[in-house]
Amino acid sequence: VRFEPWMQASASARQSLETDLRAALALNKVELRKAMVVDQFKIYYQPQVSLPDMQLTGFEALVRWQHPVRGMINPDDFIPLAEEIGLIGLLGDWVMHTACRTAAAWPLLSNGRALQVAVNVSPIQLRERRALVASIADALAQSGLDAARLEVEITESALIGDACETLRSIKHLGVTLALDDFGTGFSSLSQLAHYPFDRLKIDRSFVRNLPDGADLTSADATHARWMIQAIASLGSGLDMCTIAEGVETIAQAEMVRAAGVTDIQGFLISRPVPEGDVLALVRRLDAASTDAIHIFTEIN
Ligand code: C2E
Ligand code: MG
Ligand code: MG
Ligand code: MG
Repeated sequence: VRFEPWMQASASARQSLETDLRAALALNKVELRKAMVVDQFKIYYQPQVSLPDMQLTGFEALVRWQHPVRGMINPDDFIPLAEEIGLIGLLGDWVMHTACRTAAAWPLLSNGRALQVAVNVSPIQLRERRALVASIADALAQSGLDAARLEVEITESALIGDACETLRSIKHLGVTLALDDFGTGFSSLSQLAHYPFDRLKIDRSFVRNLPDGADLTSADATHARWMIQAIASLGSGLDMCTIAEGVETIAQAEMVRAAGVTDIQGFLISRPVPEGDVLALVRRLDAASTDAIHIFTEIN
């Protein structure tokens, strides 16, 4: 490979991002275990609703890095780096503690149900079974959050080695488990029944290919529809719920509902919002959920 100037540029950009990430986390290391305010990291929350009634069920916690110079950095641009340089445990621990503490203060819905919070766990964290189980148990104990209200999300690509044992230990805490980005990285379908997952999150790539109304018969659209239908029946056959990620249009919501998917998450309902906006969103979605049509018209 010839050395190009852009390689130099991107290598030094990466180096400075790495330095900044180390500093941002080191600064707050002492506070991390107590889940106190960490200046540069923020958690955004994206609602999840059940079908067909569009009843709010909970939120997924999605971390962002508010970089003092570069502005808001999305997780896809720093989580891999945090994993690579050995800081994902620290960051993940902070997210777990903070999300649990935040969710513990959320109000009950008007139907009397409590909201769930879903937290993403990196495959690297999954490899450190004892540290991960301790982190989740501690976050529950510190926050007082009912374990049943916490959902731990694991991506499909993490299901290697002794992952199953680790998942059972996590499940033993009383939390629920979701298999994230399902359909993009799992080679052994026959193993799926042995893992203690409560729901499958259908990867956004399938939903993205659903037609937006005009192009109902394209090959991609037909395939996407079959895939989603197949995953929905796989889920129901294995006693798992299914949630479609990345639902942006009513047409997509209607199609995944027709395919038998039980829940949705996506920009149609709301983008991820900062913690301070969660309560207003809960009130709006709670009020609208008795009338799904009302939600659809209100949002578009
Ligand atoms: P994910 O867990 O699959 O999260 C869903 C991603 O899809 C989020 O991106 C969300 O903002 C985005 N999304 C949701 N609905 C829509 C939609 O309708 N359209 C489009 N175009 N996008 C939608 P985000 O927040 O950038 O997060 C990206 C990934 O970073 C996450 O994918 C997750 O794998 C990872 N991540 C986020 N927070 C954490 C964390 O605290 N720990 C770890 N280990 N990973 C995290
Ligand atoms: Mg996720
Ligand atoms: Mg996902
Ligand atoms: Mg994803």
